[in-house]
Order: sequence, then structure tokens, then C-alpha cells
Amino acid sequence: MQSFNLCPPERLRNLRGVLTDIDDTLTQGGVIAPAALSALQTLERAGVPVIAVTGRPSGWSEPFALSWPVRAIVAENGAVMLRRDEKGALKREFSQDAPTRSANFARLQACAAAVLRQVPQARLATDSAGRLTDIAVDHAEFAQLDAAQIEAVCAVMHAHGLVATVSSIHINGWIGEHSKWTAAAWAVPALLGEEFDPRRWLYIGDSANDQLMFERMPLTVGVANIALWAPRLRHLPTFVTDGERGEGFAEMARALLQARAGNG
Ligand SMILES: [Mg+2]
Repeated sequence: MQSFNLCPPERLRNLRGVLTDIDDTLTQGGVIAPAALSALQTLERAGVPVIAVTGRPSGWSEPFALSWPVRAIVAENGAVMLRRDEKGALKREFSQDAPTRSANFARLQACAAAVLRQVPQARLATDSAGRLTDIAVDHAEFAQLDAAQIEAVCAVMHAHGLVATVSSIHINGWIGEHSKWTAAAWAVPALLGEEFDPRRWLYIGDSANDQLMFERMPLTVGVANIALWAPRLRHLPTFVTDGERGEGFAEMARALLQARAGNG
């Protein structure tokens, strides 16, 4: 990872928009950092669309989809897109049809029960009630699991045929091909009426569940607290900010807007 200060302004100047993780990229302890909120407002005013892509549940994300200046939040790792309609009301769309979701729901609950049986220290995430298409085990939000316990939870999920990813706070498991990558390919055409061209978007995140984006997107940025995760990641972002969490996001937004203004 190189310092984000070394990112050439040419790489930022013609970007179409920003894709961002939420936990520990915009927020700390689940609360948005003032610097991040103000950066989102500045980007929105400058006409730079921001789409947030998170492992958080639909229920947790809905108030933020209504109140943060983002075009949408794609929750549950690509399963649910939340945005404001023309009247400002919440619009919720799913990437899987209703019969698939209800068939999966029963399998997911069976897997959650198996995780709790087989990894006795595991606790379901406190935001589990708002989850429509996945399950989540807390490893660093209110509970603590070590690396071996996180691995054990992932192994149970895999044995049940789930996809498993590890965010900065939770281990998420779901059924289906969706991911943060498919979330981007879904949201960009739906929101902007154009194909998703990964070369024209920047992705910013902080942990293991951002790795697919770090691997596939040409321009990726980690906020400084990615240092906590870096030894365990197979795919790292191109650049890393000086600031942690919301301060790092704001640092990226400032450079992007300076580059667009021709001052970068
Ligand atoms: Mg995160």
C-alpha cells in the first residue's frame, strides 16, 4: 500500500463516483464521524455520487439511506438496495426473488443455530433482527472472538453452503452469488442509468470484507485503520490514507475534489 498522498491527481480527476464501505470507514462504533458526514455532503453538492456498500442489515441501514447524502446503501453484502424515491420515501429492492429469499431464510437460521452450538463463544450480532437475507456473528462490536474462533465460525458457515466474509465487526454468512462487487454492478445502472465501469469508480474500505473490491477495482483506498487487518488480508488497497475512519474518508474526498477543480 502506498500513501494516498502519492495518488496522482489524474487518477482522481475523471472519476464518476465513489463506492464506500460503512463500518470503520465512515463510522466508529456504528456512528458516522462528523468529518465523513461533511465529506459526503461536499461530494453530493459537487455532483459526485456516493454509493455505500455494507454487510450491515437492511433494518440498520434504512434510517441512514434516508438521512445521509448518499445515492443508496446496498446492505447485506449486495442483497438489498435502499434509496429515497422521488418523494423522499424509502425504496427497498432485493437482488433475489421472494421464493429464493424465503427458502434461504430457513437454511440461514439452521446454520446460525449450528454456529452457536459448535463455537460456544459465538454470539449473533445485536442487529440480527434487521437481517433479511443473511446471518451475522459478532466478533468485535460488543463481543470478542479471536482469529481461530472467527475461522471456526466461517468453517461452520461454509459447511452449510454459505458464503462467509469478515467485516471489522461481524462475520456475515449468506446464500447466493451476491457480493459487494455485484452490488456495484447492480446499483450503478439502477441509480445512474449507465453501465458500471470499474475504471471510473474509487472504492474505499477498511477490512476483510472489502477484499473482493480491493482485488477487482483498479483504484482502491484503505483508511488508516486498515493496519489492524492488513496482516490477515490477501488483497490490499492501492493506497492508504493518513487519517483513520471518517478522517481518512474526508482526506480522500478533499483530494478527489481538488483534482476535479484542477488544483490537485
Ligand atoms: Mg468496514
